[in-house]
Amino acid sequence: MNLRRLAILREMGLAPLWRLRAETGAETADTDVPEQPLPTEPDVSHAPVSPVAASAAPASRVAGMDWRELEETIHACRACALCEKRTQAVPGVGDRQARWMFVGEGPGVEEDRRGEPFVGQAGRLLDLMLAALDLKRGEDVYIANAVKCRPPHNRTPEAAEIAACAAFLDRQIALVRPRLLIALGRPAAQALLGREISIGAARGKRFERDGVPVIVTYHPAYLLRNPLDKGKAWEDLCFARRLVAEAA
Ligand code: SF4
Repeated sequence: MNLRRLAILREMGLAPLWRLRAETGAETADTDVPEQPLPTEPDVSHAPVSPVAASAAPASRVAGMDWRELEETIHACRACALCEKRTQAVPGVGDRQARWMFVGEGPGVEEDRRGEPFVGQAGRLLDLMLAALDLKRGEDVYIANAVKCRPPHNRTPEAAEIAACAAFLDRQIALVRPRLLIALGRPAAQALLGREISIGAARGKRFERDGVPVIVTYHPAYLLRNPLDKGKAWEDLCFARRLVAEAA
């Protein structure tokens, strides 16, 4: 492992874990990935989990939008109650031809204020996770959320809100055409897979959505509250890296 990655892992709170394994003769974190192919879950047809609210742009129209039209429509959208408390909608950010696409839950206070997903503490941890993979926000990485408007008091978005916003996420994925989708947390997994799952049970599995591999891992905000699970997140990222390499 190079020094830069070690420094990043130390910042993530993972360096002691890596050292412990190195000292005991186990493989380094770089290779800390399940070696056996893991079961592939059935492909998911991503029909919205419930009907889109009447005021949303029809999914068929969204499906034909280019980036400019899509972002304008998101900013003007009033399809669910989340529009009422937002400062602004937060469509997404990054490389529009990225191989890696990360999907989170929804904007928080800081994201709502700045109009960019994953800023603030959770965003800093996500940036460190990206750096550990030799990735960088904006370069070969696109970041979006399941819902584009901030849920009040940072509550979890409801299934109906995720469904109301689904056509926008669908279109972002169709435009980016990533090699891998990474769901950060349960609501993001629900948005990508169209069903409720438990992160603990779904970690380490390769799902598919319209032929694109999907994996799930913890949301960075969860990892900030539960630092002992950072090691699992690192395993998930190594798994992700292997899938992207295989897709190449
Ligand atoms: Fe529209 Fe999505 Fe915002 Fe709801 S969360 S108002 S569906 S952009």
